[in-house]
Amino acid sequence: MRAIYFEEHGGPEVLKFGDLPDPEPGRGEVLMEVRAASLNHLDLFVRRGMPGFSIEFPHIPGSDASGVVAGLGEDVGGFEAGDRVLLNPSLSCGKCEYCIRGDASLCRTYHIMGETVNGTCCEKIVVPAENVIKIPAHISFEAAAAVPLVFLTAWRMLITRAALQPGEDVLILGAASGVGTACIQIAKRAGARVFAAASSEEKLELCRRLGADVVINYAEEDFVKRIKSETNKKGVDVCVDYIGKDTWVNSLKSLARGGRLVTCGATTGYDPQTDLRHIFFRQLQIIGSTMGSKNDLLAPLQFLFRGEIKAAIDRVMDLEETAEAHRLMESRSVAGKIVLRVGDKN
Ligand SMILES: [Zn+2]
Repeated sequence: MRAIYFEEHGGPEVLKFGDLPDPEPGRGEVLMEVRAASLNHLDLFVRRGMPGFSIEFPHIPGSDASGVVAGLGEDVGGFEAGDRVLLNPSLSCGKCEYCIRGDASLCRTYHIMGETVNGTCCEKIVVPAENVIKIPAHISFEAAAAVPLVFLTAWRMLITRAALQPGEDVLILGAASGVGTACIQIAKRAGARVFAAASSEEKLELCRRLGADVVINYAEEDFVKRIKSETNKKGVDVCVDYIGKDTWVNSLKSLARGGRLVTCGATTGYDPQTDLRHIFFRQLQIIGSTMGSKNDLLAPLQFLFRGEIKAAIDRVMDLEETAEAHRLMESRSVAGKIVLRVGDKN
């Protein structure tokens, strides 16, 4: 099969396009022909190399995919060749107390497609049957592939972890990213008022189109001041911050008394200074979140299948252009998701 792979860590130039052996489905696994894949910031971290994560080379990156069922391993029921499906990229043991209670991303064996195991930027993948979800005929492969990782991450942060309520105010930083554009749509569906902060007018326009009530260009404007003036000095009930060091202190300041700060990443650094007085005097909650469980994906998929949400797609490129797609993401000029066309087009 044709695949994107790398044999050493580094910049986008380490990505190669060529032939690798076809994978074979084992017991309980489904062979899926990929028709579309989508990229995430995780792909960049994996390609550069992350401390504490070792991977075998050649490594195929990519966590998101949609396609058709092309083969079944032993003991797999409920699927037939040709079924249109998408992939839940969360892999876990399925047996421990965390998995059983629906917190797969707390499982000790938790890992993600394309992170420590081969991923989706290729023509064929083999995955556990429980990770395969059928998609209705009216959802295109490209639309489906853009959803899983960012929407399950956003759903877990806002709904499962931060318990966002109707009528609350939520501030989303980096709101034009894949996760940010998912957060805007989920927060609106939950009945919240959405403040979206992004760094260019083009990105803010996307946030507006997705339903953001107030947009803030935080490259040009102090977002804490703006939040205070928009909320009658109160601050927001929930702030979503995966920017990290650059925004952390101001995210705390933007919260209302008793507010919740939810974080799923630290793109600009993981060791910001925190004035603990902000947390205890104002009784703030700091909530960590990472990826999500199958429930965190099935919930937003119901909205997708009913046509009430869709992933924001910046552009669609071909699989062989993956290195160029990584460069675009690193230049921070992408709003929403990059989707890759794979294999036969339809
Ligand atoms: Zn487990």
